Amino acid sequence: MNRKSIYFKVKLNSIFIISIIIAGIAVSMLIAAFTLKSSNSYPTVNKARIITKEAMDCIEENFYSKNFNQLNSLNFRTQILDLSGNIIYNNYDERSGNIGIKGNVSYDMNFSSLNDNIVKFASPVVVDGTQTGISVFFIQKAALIKNNVLKNVFIIFLPLIIALVIIFITLLYYVYQTKKQFVNPILDINNSAEAIIKGDFGKKIKYNNDTEVGKLCASFEMMRDELKESIERERRLENSRKELITCISHDLRTPIASIKAYVDGIMDGLAKDEDTLSRYLSIISRKTQILTKLINDLFEHCQTELDKLKIEKREVYSGEFLKHISNELSLEFRNSNYEFEVIKDIPNVLINIDPLRIEQVIYNLIQNAKKYTEDGEKIIFGAEIEDGYLKIFVKDNGYGIESIDLPYIFDKFYRGEKARNSDKGGSGLGLSICKYIVEKHGGQIFVESGKEKGSSFYFVIPKI
Ligand code: ADP
Repeated sequence: MNRKSIYFKVKLNSIFIISIIIAGIAVSMLIAAFTLKSSNSYPTVNKARIITKEAMDCIEENFYSKNFNQLNSLNFRTQILDLSGNIIYNNYDERSGNIGIKGNVSYDMNFSSLNDNIVKFASPVVVDGTQTGISVFFIQKAALIKNNVLKNVFIIFLPLIIALVIIFITLLYYVYQTKKQFVNPILDINNSAEAIIKGDFGKKIKYNNDTEVGKLCASFEMMRDELKESIERERRLENSRKELITCISHDLRTPIASIKAYVDGIMDGLAKDEDTLSRYLSIISRKTQILTKLINDLFEHCQTELDKLKIEKREVYSGEFLKHISNELSLEFRNSNYEFEVIKDIPNVLINIDPLRIEQVIYNLIQNAKKYTEDGEKIIFGAEIEDGYLKIFVKDNGYGIESIDLPYIFDKFYRGEKARNSDKGGSGLGLSICKYIVEKHGGQIFVESGKEKGSSFYFVIPKI
C-alpha cells in the first residue's frame, strides 16, 4: 500500500488512536490496581492502629493490674492474651481459657477479615520494652473503610476518565490534522477557483506535497499558472496586434505622405532644375527604402510570431563569411560621411548558421548604428572568440540609449526616446527580429550603452 495515500494514513491514524486508548486504559488500570492494593493494606492498618491506640495505651498501662474497664466503652471489642495464649480479658465473646496463638492470632498477617462486617486486628502488648501479651481487636469494617468509599469510586473510574481525556485529546489532534491536511487545502482550492472565475490568478494555495491532497493542490497550482500564463500570453498577443495595426498605419502613412508630396511637387513642375529633381528623387528613394524596410520588418515579425521565419543552417567558416560582409560594408561606407573601421583579427572558426539571417542581423545593427549616430562619427565592426562562442560586435559613438529604454529595446515595437522624437522612421521591430534570429542559432544578443556614450551591440553564436 502506498505509504502516502490517505487510506494508509487514516488506517495508520486509527491504529494509532486505538493503540493509544488501549495503552491509556492499561496504564490507568495498572495505576488503579496499585493504588487499590496499597489502599487496602497500609492505609487500613494505619487506620486500625489509630483507632486502637487509646485501647493499646490502656492495655499496656494496666496489663499487670488487669483494670481494663475502659475498654468496654470503646466501639470495638477486645481480647487480651498472655504469651501462652491464655485469655486475660475478653469483651468480644464468652470464651475464656486458652486460645491457640498460632491458629488464631496471625503475626505475619496481623490484619484479617473475620466476616463481612468485622475485621480482626492483632497487636503485641509491650511493657517496659518487653512483649508481655497480645491484644486482639474486633473492629467494624465500616469504621476502617468508610472514608475510602469515595476514593475507591474515583479509583475505579480513574482509568475511564484518563482514557476519555486521552481519546478527547487524540480526537482533537486528529480533527486538527484532518483540517490542516485535507480540509484547509480543499477550501483553498475552492477559494482559488472562485478567484480565478473572477479573473484573479494571485491566490496561491499552501500545501504539503506528500499527500494526495498535496498532489491535487500541486496540479491545481500548475493549472492555475498555465491558465494565467496563457491568458497573459493571449493579452500580450492582443496588445501586440493592436500595437501592430497602430504602428503599421502610422509608420506607413508618414513615408507615403512624403513620397506623395514629392511626386506631386515633381508633377506640378516644382523641380525646375536637374539638381532639385535629383534631390526630390533621392528623398523619394530614401522614403521608399524606409517603406520597404518597414514592410519587410512587419512581414518578418509575423513570421517570428508564428515561429515560421525560415532559418536554413549550414556549416561555414567565420573568417571568410565575416570578411565578405565587412568588404561589402566598407564599400557602402565609402560613399558616406561615417568613419567605418573593421577589427583586423577576425577569428576563423567553424559555425553552423544561416548566413543570410546572420548577415541580416549584422546589417540591422549597422543600419541602427548609422541611424542613431551623427554623420562623421565612427562605427566599428569586428569579432572575437569568447568562452567557446564567436562574438560579433557593432560599436558606435552615437547618441547612445537612455537607461530607461535599455531593458526594452529588444521588445517588439519598442522605440527609444530618440527614435520616437525624430523622423528616423523604424518600426521598433528590427532588434526583436535580430534577437529571434540569434536565439534560433543558440546564441544571445546584448548591448552596452548610455546616454551620449555610444552603443556597443554584441551577439554570440556557438562555434562547432
Ligand atoms: P527601430 O526601427 O526603432 O530602430 P529597433 O528594434 O531596431 O527599432 O531598435 C529599437 C530601439 O533601440 C530604437 O528605437 C532605438 O531607440 C534603440 N537603438 C537601437 N540601436 C541603437 C543604436 N545603435 N544607438 C542608439 N539607440 C539604438
